[in-house]
Amino acid sequence: MKTAFFTTAFLAITILASARQTPAPASAQQVTVLTNATIIDGTGSNAQPHMTVVIDGGRIIRIVPGKVVIRQGAVQIDMTGKYLMPSIIDCHTHVGNLKGTTTSGENYTPENVRRQLQKFQDFGIATILSMGTEQPIGVAIRDSSKAGLIPGATLYSAIYGFGVKGAMPPESAGFTHIYRPETPEEATKDVQELAPLHPDVIKMWVDDFYGQYRQDQIMRPEIYTAIIKEAHAHGIRAAAHLYYLSDAHRLVDAGLDIMAHSIRDAEIDDTLVAEMKRRHIAYIPTLSLDEFAFAYEDDPVWLTDPRFKASLEPGVYDMVTSAAYKEKISKSTVTPQEKMALPIALKNLLTLYRAGVLIALGTDAGASPIRAQGFSEHMEMALMVRAGLTPLEAIRIATLNGARLLGIETDQGSLEKGKKADFIVLDKDPLTDIHNTLSIDAVWKDGIKVSDGPLTHYQQ
Ligand SMILES: [Zn+2]
Repeated sequence: MKTAFFTTAFLAITILASARQTPAPASAQQVTVLTNATIIDGTGSNAQPHMTVVIDGGRIIRIVPGKVVIRQGAVQIDMTGKYLMPSIIDCHTHVGNLKGTTTSGENYTPENVRRQLQKFQDFGIATILSMGTEQPIGVAIRDSSKAGLIPGATLYSAIYGFGVKGAMPPESAGFTHIYRPETPEEATKDVQELAPLHPDVIKMWVDDFYGQYRQDQIMRPEIYTAIIKEAHAHGIRAAAHLYYLSDAHRLVDAGLDIMAHSIRDAEIDDTLVAEMKRRHIAYIPTLSLDEFAFAYEDDPVWLTDPRFKASLEPGVYDMVTSAAYKEKISKSTVTPQEKMALPIALKNLLTLYRAGVLIALGTDAGASPIRAQGFSEHMEMALMVRAGLTPLEAIRIATLNGARLLGIETDQGSLEKGKKADFIVLDKDPLTDIHNTLSIDAVWKDGIKVSDGPLTHYQQ
């Protein structure tokens, strides 16, 4: 795969920088003091009531109980009755391909990506890792986003993922820029071509897509071994879409760094748990993917939630509530497998969490119209609680653990002195009911309020 990356990249940066729509930020000297807030700091510590947060230059410079002497000229905001939690980090998403009820590389424009980054932000998601479905223009968008030049969630990306010719990811998914090496030598060369673009991880698909491809169409171990080896030679970690326990074992033996979905065909055995711990392999369960696969069949309680509707692309609500769609799910030969997959995924999450494996939040939102960008992240936390974690644990996974996975924990992921003032202001306590992470009053980024929540831009 050869593309004229650098010309388009330069062009895109120019376009994106000039189209910047961020409201004029408060002056760098502006000190903001939030008083009487209840802080859920993302580290797993209990909620701390009556806290004062002092923000200067976009960062938290003090976070203390009670009151502080407020410097003249500082802006003071009373947060009585509000809960502050760090903004969410989603370590498995896709951007730009979704538009209306379609998923296609043709939808991938700077405008579409920017719109979706804004949507993520409206739902309190500060940072996302897009898993290998970019178009060439996406490289410049990622770079501009990381440089703070475009509004919305910050985009990290695997850029172009690695799949199998005639198999995963399916052509029907509409992802046109995928490496599909047929030999280890080709795989190595492809990684060498991709590495100068600095993908944040290397993404591979190792799956038969619910049995829709033959076993011999699953990426062969010699291919992913070559990909992982070359990724490591460039200092890049490898992440795999996977499904089966047997593939997980082989991928771990091959040096995998990140499992980008749950193992869903069988309960994880002690050997794999121990090996994942020993090798510091991170695990991204994407439970909401499994839930969304069949949930629409039975009119789930959240179906009429205006925030769910707001997270959908135009036309998708009518699609998923139609009798035809329900019938399609109930008749699909894949549905029984998907229904069995979720409880196994929940159990495996609990096992790995209790063993001390690094778990980060991911959703696979944006890869299909039925998985809503923004709402999925909140559903993901609720499913973690259903798996047996506490809301406090789910929030840490959604925030600090994601920052650790991305290697940005010195800057993001928790509300602590010195870190960026990126947080969500909630009207209701998420520790008494995890669904309250959706009671978003405001979203702050770099010490500035950037959104009034999910109903601001996308009410349908
Ligand atoms: Zn994905």
